[in-house]
Amino acid sequence: MKAAILHGPRDLRVESLREPRPEPGEVLVRIVAAGLCGTDYEIWSGARRVAYPRVMGHELVGRVEAVAPDVTQVSPGDPVVVEPNYSCGHCPLCREGNRNLCLSRTTIGINRDGGFAELVRVPAQCCWRATPGAGSDTLLLVEPLAVVVRAVGRGQPRRGESAAIVGAGTLGLLALQVLRARGARVMVVSRSRRRFALASELGAEATHATGEGAPADAARKFSGREGVDLVVETAGTPEAVTHALELVRPGGRVVLTGLPHEPTAVSFFSVVRREVTLTGSMIYQHEFPEALELVGSGAVKTAPLITHRFGLDRIAEAFAAHADVNSIKVALEL
Ligand SMILES: [Zn+2]
Ligand SMILES: [Zn+2]
Repeated sequence: MKAAILHGPRDLRVESLREPRPEPGEVLVRIVAAGLCGTDYEIWSGARRVAYPRVMGHELVGRVEAVAPDVTQVSPGDPVVVEPNYSCGHCPLCREGNRNLCLSRTTIGINRDGGFAELVRVPAQCCWRATPGAGSDTLLLVEPLAVVVRAVGRGQPRRGESAAIVGAGTLGLLALQVLRARGARVMVVSRSRRRFALASELGAEATHATGEGAPADAARKFSGREGVDLVVETAGTPEAVTHALELVRPGGRVVLTGLPHEPTAVSFFSVVRREVTLTGSMIYQHEFPEALELVGSGAVKTAPLITHRFGLDRIAEAFAAHADVNSIKVALEL
């Protein structure tokens, strides 16, 4: 089979590999489409090291090719979406339900070979059967959507509340739609106005570019009070965290789901003084079914977010497209 193999930072080659065979408890999935994200880019560039050689790819849509004899959850031919994270299942964190926080968590495409390939083997519990006939455009963003479903859920939005999303990338534009589906009014806040037309199309009632005035003023204007009830931060930069705290009202909630790798200067004075609830949200626990339902019902639209498509042989162009400011989601189509 063909696979894109990363031999080291920026050394990605499409090569022929021996076809994998499912081991006990595993499923062999034939990939139909795979999404590229910032994590893949960090691994590709070497900012994040993995054990080489490695096949990346963790946002995966495909069809079951074969199953190990002990697998009953799915059958050959089933359309599936892959949940790429699985945990040890027996540590205290796993036993109390916090499997996303397991210290021995494995990510397909990072800790073991993923789906920038024609075939990938995955544990059976990582396969979610998709509605037959659901196109790969609908299913490709289910993984990042599950991240967002959890983040929004942790913010406990109530119907009629005002909310702000910081960041207008894939996660931000999905969070906007999940919050709309929960009945919140949403303002999208971003460094640039580039995605504002799309954000409005997807349900944003207001937009604010951070270079064009204080976020706090925009939040007061939008909410009609001291700031918004809820902020979901998706950009993962130190300045985005600062903006999130400027947008929220006293007594409001901020959920952080972007991963700021650099140190972040946060004024905790304003957190204490205003009793802001600050919540982290890490990938997902049991949000995949809800994400599948949201795309299935059309409450969340994913196709407008897929801006680029490439065959596996053109994966180098796919990484270049990911780095382009005009791209949102870059897809590989197998
Ligand atoms: Zn990803
Ligand atoms: Zn565990």
